[in-house]
Amino acid sequence: MEINRRRAIVSATASATALSLQHAALAETPPFTLRYMLPSCMYGYTEISELLPEVNKIGATAIDLWPMVHGNQREQLDEMGEAAFERKLRAAGVELGCLTQYKLGPFGLQSEMRLAGRLGCRTIVTGGKGPRGLEGSELKRAVGDFVEQMKPHLEVAEQTGVTIAIENHANNLIQSPDSMKWLMELRPSDHLGVALAPYHLPQDEQLIADLIRTLGNSIAVFYAWQHGMGSVKKLPKEQELLQMPGRGSLNFVPIIAALAEIEYRGWTEIFMHPVPRGIPIHDSTAKVTAEINRSRLYLQRCLSQVANDPRGAATERTNLTTGGKKMSDEQERVTGEYNELNANEAYVILRQGTEPPGPGGYTLTKDPGTYICRQCNARLYRAEDKFESHCGWPSFDDEIDGAVIRRPDADGRRTEIVCSNCKGHLGHVFLGEQMTTKNTRHCVNSISMKFIPKGKDLPAMIVKESE
Ligand SMILES: [Zn+2]
Repeated sequence: MEINRRRAIVSATASATALSLQHAALAETPPFTLRYMLPSCMYGYTEISELLPEVNKIGATAIDLWPMVHGNQREQLDEMGEAAFERKLRAAGVELGCLTQYKLGPFGLQSEMRLAGRLGCRTIVTGGKGPRGLEGSELKRAVGDFVEQMKPHLEVAEQTGVTIAIENHANNLIQSPDSMKWLMELRPSDHLGVALAPYHLPQDEQLIADLIRTLGNSIAVFYAWQHGMGSVKKLPKEQELLQMPGRGSLNFVPIIAALAEIEYRGWTEIFMHPVPRGIPIHDSTAKVTAEINRSRLYLQRCLSQVANDPRGAATERTNLTTGGKKMSDEQERVTGEYNELNANEAYVILRQGTEPPGPGGYTLTKDPGTYICRQCNARLYRAEDKFESHCGWPSFDDEIDGAVIRRPDADGRRTEIVCSNCKGHLGHVFLGEQMTTKNTRHCVNSISMKFIPKGKDLPAMIVKESE
């Protein structure tokens, strides 16, 4: 009940927020921005003195100190002493935004909270504690027990001005969206908050956006962090980096739209875990900073999309399959055999081949019209969604609704695209390259398509009898 009520209030204010975002775009009110904090562990065991100048370089104002094994900056603080640490912070113009302390656990934070209080740090992140794998009323009861046990600790939190933010984590009492909702509904004090990690949630941007609307400003830390291909097994760097916003396939536009709607005031950390833990995500401090800034630029573009089109951004979906999208029924259909393919066409369309890149085929075509499937005539792409990517193949940043199915490529790395009618191979789709505002590139073999100039009749889509 409580959750529904809160949700109703949030959605009622959503349209008002959308309006305020439009006004912000007209510079009547300051636009919504994310408050960035630098997670020290992204740089492994780098010296605090070397890290502090990076804080401003990533557009952040604060640092989050991580202990071993992820980083060792918390231990460095002990070694240099509080006074020396404070001097360094002041000299760099950086705030201590957070202490991350999983090892101490939610019931072991008293002295850490007092240290945070002395250093003007308002947030400590830790994990929940209690039985795992529960659902429904059992989960609610277990979260209630946890909150009860937190009470004496929250008294210290209130005295020291600290918020204890519980991260949702795999294999933990606080893991599912429901567990977070109960935590926030049952919390006796707003010094108990959430550190929201999309990495540990289903990779569904709409689910994550809805959760943000429900949790509102009980979120103290937001990790701009997606699952990608995980962070447990050692992977090639390129695959490891798919955890970063703009690199992996999670669309952050609806997520940023939700944060803007709740006028999110907590910290945002652009985040990933390297394998093994404790090493920097790249081999130099400058490269780590550049990687974080790459993601920050992506989030910035999400943010401008939200400001320009708050309604569209809030409902936008990028599904791995055509999901909820309806097949367009504008095109005529006939039942019969597909168009015959020559050897080159069959190699690409039926056997997932790739034609050589270059200026041939439709790579440079700019005429108005429609691109249809070579094998079945289904409409695939509109000429107005085509752009020059200089990659040597025709590139589109959007498909005709329902025309294309996305599926993991056999190489385990890329996302293959096929015609949703005949399942003929088209090419691959890449997200997060920031080539257009839609941040999507359908890289399509010319040979998989046929171009029908505007004004000419589209042939009917061929549907197999058995289907
Ligand atoms: Zn087709």
